[in-house]
Amino acid sequence: MPGPETVVYGGNTPCVEVRIGKRLIILDAGTGITNLGSKLMQEPGPICGDIFITHAHWDHIQGFPFFQPAFREGNSFSLYGEGKGNISFAALIKRTMRHPHFPVPLENLGAALYFTEIEPGDTLELGDGITVQTAANNHPDGGISYRIQYGNKSCCYVTDYEHGSEKAQELLKLCNGTDLLIYDAFFTAAEYPRYQGWGHSTWEEGLALLEAAGAGRLILFHHKPERRDEEMAALEASVISQYPMARAAREGMVISL
Ligand SMILES: [Zn+2]
Ligand SMILES: [Zn+2]
Repeated sequence: MPGPETVVYGGNTPCVEVRIGKRLIILDAGTGITNLGSKLMQEPGPICGDIFITHAHWDHIQGFPFFQPAFREGNSFSLYGEGKGNISFAALIKRTMRHPHFPVPLENLGAALYFTEIEPGDTLELGDGITVQTAANNHPDGGISYRIQYGNKSCCYVTDYEHGSEKAQELLKLCNGTDLLIYDAFFTAAEYPRYQGWGHSTWEEGLALLEAAGAGRLILFHHKPERRDEEMAALEASVISQYPMARAAREGMVISL
């Protein structure tokens, strides 16, 4: 939702860049990946990275066709995500780039693309001492939460997740002692009762998870599309009053661990 009322917190759909030394990891390919792509194109190539997709809802994949580095030969990306029913993860992404939805089929992009289908609960070794752990999200059509671990530093990416299901226990384990929890705070506590079952959460639940897991910083993520900067600022002030190490995610925000 980019526009004059979302300039502070940003209006793009989910995309988070993680850098560990020379390694590039991207969490989700929402519209935010377009700006990330432009930034990466300024760096000396070739560009290689691992892209983890939480689930195939539009807001998490719709930026991929506009990710410039995928169009350049010599670049390579490994994409990880879940299949759905009989449809493989690769097919889920491919079919979004087919006529009449998009003029360039995924097979014709210049970069080498490798697809790995994963399931919640899987652990992946990415090399260079980087481990990625996963857990299932409580969300319509499912989804995956990720923990990226390097040495004694870690961050957890928990979005499109609704609290209060039997999946909470696995998630709590995933987030145990993490330095940074990026958490779905789509609804306010006042809004939530009307939207139970929509697969999103609140900052209060994020804070509860953070405390139970003994985690460090909290970043509120996946702001409701209708939320404007003014409302976001009020929301952020509320969470900071409860927990000074909390912030609302904003476009271009950088956090060093
Ligand atoms: Zn979703
Ligand atoms: Zn979403």
